[in-house]
Amino acid sequence: MSNKEMDQLREQLDSLNLQLLNLINERGRIVQKIGEVKGKQSQYRYDPVREREMLNTLIENNDGPFERSTIEHIFKEIFKASLELQEDDHRKALLVSRKKKPEDTVITLKGHQVGSGEPSFVFGPCAVESYEQVATVAKAIKDKGFKLMRGGAYKPRTSPYDFQGLGEEGLKILKQVADEYDLAVISEIVNPADVEMAAKYIDVIQIGARNMQNFELLKAAGAIDKPVLLKRGLAATIEEFINAAEYIMSQGNGNIILCERGIRTYEKATRNTLDISAVPILKKETHLPVMVDVTHSTGRRDLLIPTAKAALAIGADGVMAEVHPDPAVALSDSAQQMDLKQFDEFVKEVQPFSQQSGMRI
Ligand code: PEP
Ligand code: MN
Repeated sequence: MSNKEMDQLREQLDSLNLQLLNLINERGRIVQKIGEVKGKQSQYRYDPVREREMLNTLIENNDGPFERSTIEHIFKEIFKASLELQEDDHRKALLVSRKKKPEDTVITLKGHQVGSGEPSFVFGPCAVESYEQVATVAKAIKDKGFKLMRGGAYKPRTSPYDFQGLGEEGLKILKQVADEYDLAVISEIVNPADVEMAAKYIDVIQIGARNMQNFELLKAAGAIDKPVLLKRGLAATIEEFINAAEYIMSQGNGNIILCERGIRTYEKATRNTLDISAVPILKKETHLPVMVDVTHSTGRRDLLIPTAKAALAIGADGVMAEVHPDPAVALSDSAQQMDLKQFDEFVKEVQPFSQQSGMRI
């Protein structure tokens, strides 16, 4: 073949490429129009029956030289790309994603900022048991200059015969103590119907690990104007965790703190396995503040200090740990809460560490 003939063939190819490009894009525009109609009718966009019909027609009309399997493969790719065109923006970039919002979300709680660069600390008992118990811990928190307190009034327990929490009474105690000591208070809510009521008493609604995929609860928390602390589910992947946060944000509430609290693995040395690498992944993928609960992830008092340091070193915005005036008599999680003396040691060890920004990875 002469060079001239070769050049002509190449020219033909170049022109066919452009025609194919135009045709594919024209096809894409039609698919988008169909997508808009389907969207209005709330129809699911993927239609395998229709895809099969289109493939059959193509194969019937295929005179080669491409084989049937090759034609199927090429058109399947075109169908897939078209389907992606029909997907709405949220699918491509979640509201909680950095893609959607590159700047960090900072949440202000009674003047204290979570996610601003300085680490936050949340301390308090596993469960609210009495005014005196909460007030004793609140005083210790305040004396150390911290601002955030936790305490469960609704306790999701493994056994129905275990202490279930004081309910609204517990929330009232938290509010009273928080007002007296000027603290912001975080407490778990388990029932979507309680979210609005709870918002009158507390500063942050906690959604616990066992409820991370309670979608009605997520939607209820998303519909109010109150920050939410969302804990990672016991067996939730990071993707599921992020999507759970998206449920909240899709309802309009973007004030969400993510909390890694360990996942269930075959390891028995700790109560759960702290997935420390989840922290930088969540920080990278989302714009939300990320905390680490060192109490429930380890279930071991002797690991609270090293895991808290690890959390801050890897970039967590805060650490949560349980403190009880007398853990031995606590009505829940008695083995893992710190007493006030251990609380002192924890703060002495971890706080200076958190201020050494050079420790950040
Ligand atoms: C809690 O923080 O009180 C609690 C029950 O934690 P989790 O939901 O992470 O188990
Ligand atoms: Mn607990």
